[in-house]
Amino acid sequence: MGATVAIIGRPNVGKSTLFNRLVGKRLALVDDTPGVTRDRRPGDARLGDLRFTIVDTAGLEDADKSSLEGRMRRQTEDAIQTADAVLFVIDARAGVTPLDAHFAEVARKTTRPVILLANKAEGRAGESGLYESYSLGLGEPIAISAEHGEGLADLYDALKPHVDRVTEEEEAKREEAVTNVDVDEDGEIVDDEEPVGTRERPLRVAIVGRPNAGKSTLINRMLGEDRMLTGPEAGITRDSISVDWSWRDRHIKLFDTAGIRKKARVQEKLEKLSVADALRAIKFAEVVVITLDATMSFEKQDLQIIDLVAREGRALVIAINKWDLIEDREAAWKKIRDANERYFNQIRGVRIATLSGLQGQGIDRLVESVFDAYEAWNARVSTSKLNRWLDKVTANHPPPAVAGRRVRLRYMTQPKTRPPHFVAFCSRPEQLPESYTRYLVNSLRETFNIQGTPIRLSYRKGE
Ligand code: GDP
Ligand code: GDP
Repeated sequence: MGATVAIIGRPNVGKSTLFNRLVGKRLALVDDTPGVTRDRRPGDARLGDLRFTIVDTAGLEDADKSSLEGRMRRQTEDAIQTADAVLFVIDARAGVTPLDAHFAEVARKTTRPVILLANKAEGRAGESGLYESYSLGLGEPIAISAEHGEGLADLYDALKPHVDRVTEEEEAKREEAVTNVDVDEDGEIVDDEEPVGTRERPLRVAIVGRPNAGKSTLINRMLGEDRMLTGPEAGITRDSISVDWSWRDRHIKLFDTAGIRKKARVQEKLEKLSVADALRAIKFAEVVVITLDATMSFEKQDLQIIDLVAREGRALVIAINKWDLIEDREAAWKKIRDANERYFNQIRGVRIATLSGLQGQGIDRLVESVFDAYEAWNARVSTSKLNRWLDKVTANHPPPAVAGRRVRLRYMTQPKTRPPHFVAFCSRPEQLPESYTRYLVNSLRETFNIQGTPIRLSYRKGE
């Protein structure tokens, strides 16, 4: 995989705007992802022929003020750690603030290349800030406007030495190698007719999770049990390996990132793989299994992975590992259910399998859950059923009226599966509140029993 580039800087300088600019429209398409975990989300960025993973450190604005600085500092240090290059952003209109200076101090300590970006520099408003920013000791600033897309050619030149370039041909190949499934121009996986789980068409499953959750143990257990092991075969990329595994008569291609990380040994490499790894594993997979340690509490990083799965549109199963260590299982299960209600609403009804990779318990149930999630991911609802449903839900709870005129939803179809994607024709889609979309998505889920997969709902304008 290519390089990782981190965007750092104090709140409000335009990091997210720059992130979105570099990642393009793809992320904006998602309609069922609340902004719970904006920080350190990796994305696939492109700038000309440069391809890299970009990590944003935004999202702490709402944090508790007293701990804000410390947390930001830690997060920034983390981001720098995992990056091949760092984009340090300031607001050229605001000039250099004490907080900028504070972060610059952190940034100056790294051996990674730091590129100083003076953002919001469209027009002439940013000029004095631009000159002021020399004082940060981070070299020559590049004036950009993330919002208006200015200065990107200079950014390209600055990044070029640190980032891989690809030709279109290589890119096509790479896409194929990374996902190894057919994707159309929107990045959606194209249906293929062959039944999944056969030797010819194994189900693609990635096992992800925080370090020490027990991924390697689980995979080794899966592969070790009297089950036919036909791999490991040469990896999809140089740092990853897929392994063919069969369970009963169903075939699975497991994406094993954990084992490889263990082999890498080099500490720095190990640190670095974790961010980009999750994303790559998720892209590879049809179903993602996130492994959580039952003895640890649920963390932000876990949410981030779930968020990524939702964004990439994969099916999800949650594996609660080390269940053998839990004494009061009822209490533990209650905690998991609470977390489920609080955090997993992007992928409502996600299947949760408790297991012990070490002792080999619960693996059958895990695999069943994986195939169930795959089915939900492939769910297709007929147009007639959809429209009967639409009549009913809009009658029960009509869309709001804006300026005295009711927004109308007329018709709905499902053009895509994997994940299920619905399109509703709406008189004024821009006036439909987010909460109404959530209401529709939740009702779709419940009515048609689509659990454990993201659901896309978009609108077309039409009377
Ligand atoms: P973050 O907190 O660093 O992620 O900052 P955001 O990306 O959320 O941007 C903060 C504010 O600055 C938003 O209101 C943006 O619209 C605005 N902004 C971002 N980039 C530019 C720019 O290039 N020019 C101007 N004028 N405003 C910008
Ligand atoms: P990874 O970093 O996610 O690949 O985690 P490992 O598979 O290396 O496991 C981390 C630690 O947790 C090791 O000491 C394992 O022996 C232990 N471990 C993994 N799975 C289980 C389990 O199901 N039960 C118990 N008790 N320990 C486990």
